[in-house]
Parts: sequence; structure tokens; C-alpha cells
Amino acid sequence: MQTDSQVAPRRVTSINLATGETLCEFDCTSDTKVQAKVAQSRSAQPAWAALGVRRRIAILRDLQHLLHRKKSEIAHLVTREAGKPYVEALLTEVLVVLDAARFLIENAYRLLRDELIPHGNLAMKIKSGRLLREPFGVIGIVSPWNYPFSIPAAQCLAALVAGNAVVLKPSEFTSLTALELALMLHEAGVPEEILQVIPGDGATGAALVAAAIDKLIFTGSVSTGTQIARVAASRLLPVVLELGGKDPMLVLSGADIEVASSGAVWGAFVNAGQACLSVERCYVHRSLYQPFLEACVHKTQQLRVGNGVDLETDVGPMIHQRQLLHVESQVEDARSRGARVLAGGSRLPALGANFYAPTVLAEVTSAMRVMQEETFGPVLPVMAFDSDDDAVRLANDSDYGLSASVWTRDRARGADIARRIRAGSVMVNDALSCFGISEAPHGGVKASGTGRSHGRLGLEEMVRIKYLDSDRLPGVEKVWWYGYGRTFARQMEALLDLQFAQSWTRRLRGAMLAAGALRRTSVTRNERKV
Ligand code: NAD
Repeated sequence: MQTDSQVAPRRVTSINLATGETLCEFDCTSDTKVQAKVAQSRSAQPAWAALGVRRRIAILRDLQHLLHRKKSEIAHLVTREAGKPYVEALLTEVLVVLDAARFLIENAYRLLRDELIPHGNLAMKIKSGRLLREPFGVIGIVSPWNYPFSIPAAQCLAALVAGNAVVLKPSEFTSLTALELALMLHEAGVPEEILQVIPGDGATGAALVAAAIDKLIFTGSVSTGTQIARVAASRLLPVVLELGGKDPMLVLSGADIEVASSGAVWGAFVNAGQACLSVERCYVHRSLYQPFLEACVHKTQQLRVGNGVDLETDVGPMIHQRQLLHVESQVEDARSRGARVLAGGSRLPALGANFYAPTVLAEVTSAMRVMQEETFGPVLPVMAFDSDDDAVRLANDSDYGLSASVWTRDRARGADIARRIRAGSVMVNDALSCFGISEAPHGGVKASGTGRSHGRLGLEEMVRIKYLDSDRLPGVEKVWWYGYGRTFARQMEALLDLQFAQSWTRRLRGAMLAAGALRRTSVTRNERKV
């Protein structure tokens, strides 16, 4: 049998997507090392938990200051490694993390402290109850490449402030960004064993899932998420699964065409369409269909595609050839079934190997792959609908349920439609930006996953809930501790009447009869038995 040291390590490579330059190469972390790192984290975690929330919040504050100072450096790194324009790296990566830290600094103490639970049941008034929120121990985080900083960082900060250790497996395409995150956390005061990064590929991620972690936070595709869910189920490992989406955009009759078309173009092409929350299918009321399409085409043609470090660039390159081929095949499928390509529709080889032109498709149908499968590329397919009911039906006609957007001048109508859409979040008159609201929970329904990141609910995912009950009368035996019999049964019927009878006279009678049970002692109970 070969040991780790005899097998040539698999490698992962970070590439500047705009230029093709290799930025760095890493050995994938071996399975043995993954297990060793999880064990190290486990040994170190109790001391980290014992530090207390306030001390950990102070570390987050230092991290926030450090990240603010390094904002341009981090944004440039993300742009080089993941391709997105510099402004997007600043706003959707650095700002999101600064604000996630702000949310936790302001709220983690309040949200993590013990919570008194008043008891309504009269028989339980003699007890004092509280919820304790305890760290899981070691949390494994497996991340994708499309938001290589903000996704793992927001999850790491929540896990860490709650007292967990974290072992992070970043995407094979964006190891550098994750290692930079770790360096900053260490500099801010998080011990090295408490936050460890294990660069590697899918097999490294699988090794982390198989290691002795206490919870897994996974963000990535539905197919990987499904495999992970199977493995996790076999050992009852708790998981959060943040998976893909096919987010619909509904432009209702009477909507502002200028606003909605700008929203559609940004929502479909931001990060070259490689965003889980991006506009993946657009449904427009028939009365607006033509002018909306014209506005989208005009705005798409104004977009400047290129290297994200150029501050004038609107749309950067795509992550890899496999993703490009996937987008191409969906566009070809649509074209061959009658869709019209009104803008884009092809690669841009003059710019580099990974560029695809922002593409607007008209005359698409629900049967086309581009309206069914996640595209994850710069494609905006637009289809007409005839009524609000029609729009809701189309929006819900999907295996996915990550997010959606509704566009209307009438906010009440927008909120009404939003309630009818099956998705983890719905925005009215905006798309995607709820990812930047640190208070808002992020996550999906149906194939888009389970569990939440961000906000209060994201923090709750990082703790085990324990209920602690303490009896206020430690020297008194409970009346229900055996000694059952006719009298006791009547008294207990009266107790139920006291609390739940509809008439006040029955409640009063119940109170008088039930009070008799309070006179029971172990002596009277045992006397009755013999
Ligand atoms: P992916 O599923 O290919 O990979 C995600 C991560 O899982 C990577 O780190 C990868 O190395 C690892 N991995 C692969 N196989 C594994 C296995 N068997 N066990 C454990 N880990 C494994 O996804 P991707 O291509 O990196 O990301 C794109 C996908 O992520 C899209 O579908 C997108 O919608 C989704 N996504 C979802 C969200 C969300 O919050 N819902 C956010 C971003 C991206």
C-alpha cells in the first residue's frame, strides 16, 4: 500500500484569468494532513471557546481595521485570481466582509448569550429555563471560486466568533485569496490552529468531509452538494448546503423600463454572470417586451469587456474553459431551437482565452436548457408573459429556489408577488444585492440547498443549542413522580381545566381541585401504594 509520501501530490494552480499568467501552484493537502489539521484544531478549540465572545469580538474588530487598510490589495488579488472587475471586488468581496464583521461586532454578544425561556405551562413555572449556544467544535468550510473572499470570510467570521475552530478548503482556483484571508485573521489574533486553510481539489474537500469535523458549511454546485449530503447523512454530520440557482427576474406590467433594463443587464452580467444570485432568466410583461429588449441590448452593447484591473472594465473573463463550453452549449441549444441572439453570443478571443461576450437572447422558451439549467455565465435570456399569475407560475417552474426579483412601480404589488415565489430571498426592484445586507439570511430552498449564512440565522448555524433547565425548588419532589390513582387523575384533569377550559368557572373549579395535588408528599404517595 502506498503512503502519502510515496504518491506524487496532486496540484492546484492559481491563474490570472485575464492574462493566463500562473500566479501560484500548490500541492493538494494530503488526506493524512487534512486529518492531522482537524485534530490540531480540535485540541486548540476549547481554549478559543474559553476566551469568551467579547474577546473574540475584539479580534474581529482588529481584523476589520486590518482589512480596511488592505482593501485595495485584497481587491486586486481577487481581481487577478477570480477575474472580476476591481470595483466589484471592492464592493462584493471586501465591503461584504467589512460589513459582516460590523454585524458580528455589533450583535454577536447579544445573539450568542444565554437566553431565558419563560415557561407558560403552570406545572413548569417552578423551573427556570435557558437556551445555551455552544460552539460545535471544528467546523469544516468548503468554498467555491466565484466569491473567493466574501463567501468563506463571512462564514469563517461567524464560526470563529461563536467559539469554533475552522478548517477551510477553498476552491482549487482561488487558493491565494483564501490564504490571504487566513494571514489576516492570524495577524488580527486568531491562533493558527483555530483557522487553517487546506488548499486542494475536490478530493481534498471530500477528505475534509470524511474527517472528524463537527459540522460542514458547503457552498458550491448542486451535484457536489448532493454527493456531500449523502456522505454527511451516513454519519449524521450536520451540514449547511448553499447551492446553485436559476434566479428569475419578473418585470411586471407598468414597470419602469429604464430601471428594470439596467437592473437586468447588471444582474445578468455582474461577475461575468458567475454569481449564484445572478439573473438567470428574465420574464417581462408582453406590453413591455420589445422596448425592454431594446433597452437591454443597447446597454449590453455599451459594456466594456476586459481585464478587471483596468478600472474602466465592466465585465471580466470567465473562470475556466469548462464553464465557457457550458455557456456556449446552452446558447447554441437556444439558437438551434429558435432563440434570437440580439447581443453577444460568442467568445472574444482577441481579449484572451476566457472571455465571452455579454449575450442577450430573445424568443426563448421554457423548454430550452438556458431557461432550465444553471448557466453561470454572461447570458440574459428574455421571455414574455401575459399576467401576474403567469409570471409567478414561470418563476416557480424550476428545480431551484435560491432567489428572485420582482420589478414594479407598485411596491405592494411587488411584495404580494414576492410572497408567492418559492425562493430563499426575493428582492423587489433590485437583484443580488441582498448578499451585501449582513442582516439578511442567505440561502435557498428546493435544489438550491438548506441552511443559511449571514445574519442572525447564519450565526445560529454555528452553534449547538442546549436547553438548560434548573428547578427553583430543589428540596421538593414533583407531584407527578408516581403514586398515580383515582384522586391524582382527577386532580390532573382539574389542572388541564385550570389552564385550558373555555369557561372561567371551570377554570376556577379546576384551580381548587388541582391545588389538592400540591399537598402530595412522598409519604402520602407511598402510603397509598402499600
Ligand atoms: P463546485 O461544486 O465544483 O466546487 C465547490 C467546492 O467543492 C470546491 O472547493 C471544490 O473543490 C469542492 N469539492 C468538489 N468536489 C467535492 C467533494 N466530493 N467533496 C467535498 N468538496 C468537493 O462548485 P464551483 O464550481 O466551485 O462553484 C460554482 C457553483 O457554486 C455554482 O453552482 C453556484 O451557483 C454555486 N454557488 C452557490 C452559492 C450560494 O451561496 N448558494 C454561492 C456561490 C456559488
